[in-house]
Amino acid sequence: MNQKVHYQNCPVCGSDAIGKVLTANDYTVSNESFEIFHCSNCQLRFTQDVPDAAHIGPYYKSEEYISHTDTSKGLINKLYQTVRKKTLKSKRKLIQKETGLRKGQLLDIGSGTGAFVNEMKQHEWIVTGLEPDEDARMIAKKSYGIELQNMSLLWQQEPESFDAITLWHVLEHVHELQAYVQQLHNLLKKDGRLFIAVPNYTSVDAAIYKEYWAAWDVPRHLYHFSPQAMKVLISQHGMQILKYKPMWFDSFYVSMLSSKYKHGKAKLAGSFFNGLKSNFKAMNNVQKCSSVIYVIAKQA
Ligand SMILES: [Zn+2]
Repeated sequence: MNQKVHYQNCPVCGSDAIGKVLTANDYTVSNESFEIFHCSNCQLRFTQDVPDAAHIGPYYKSEEYISHTDTSKGLINKLYQTVRKKTLKSKRKLIQKETGLRKGQLLDIGSGTGAFVNEMKQHEWIVTGLEPDEDARMIAKKSYGIELQNMSLLWQQEPESFDAITLWHVLEHVHELQAYVQQLHNLLKKDGRLFIAVPNYTSVDAAIYKEYWAAWDVPRHLYHFSPQAMKVLISQHGMQILKYKPMWFDSFYVSMLSSKYKHGKAKLAGSFFNGLKSNFKAMNNVQKCSSVIYVIAKQA
């Protein structure tokens, strides 16, 4: 039997000014539908009545859930894998630029099959990679000889020991949101940098696809951030957002998936055009990008 988390208050700001905005379907695993709520105080959206941490496991069991696998079957997956290789380098460059370090100590949370950890290790960073999924950890070991650790190790790291902490599309999956963000603050060096990438429901592609928008990804995505909601969350834990960085490819990828959900099959030309439309908007305002990388520091 499923144990659900029913929120009476916003999980970010605690306000009771919350209400339903739409219903989204789980297209990848269960085909169940979930209500998405909006907080009119901090602008966070969140999935209501999600399975709790002990019961969400089965919702990750899908061959199509590609963040944990390396299959290159199907056009969308193939494209995803190709672009991922290119984005690894740009992530590394971003970290080096924002920390001002060529190499240092990195904590990567939710490492998946280890590609990013591998990229950083190859450039002499000392990396601790945490990943909850045992199969993904085994693939990392097989592909790169990398030992990823269980998530419980998050609570056993030395305080203020990391120059950089990265969460690439991870924070939206975490049940213990406030405890996590507090721990990120604890583990970050005084002048370290925290990088959080999450989807942005205020993007143009979200507005176009509405309840079919692939980045709702219920019930796996517990929270749906806007730049404003992220700002409120981060400042509650003594940190501040320094920069917003775009993830250009996400608009195309999310549009293609959304199109598939909406029409039963991805309309390639249309979804490419919608991805482009979203990115044009984001060129003038990065806070409108389909996914945003938040570059975060401790408050002085
Ligand atoms: Zn709120």
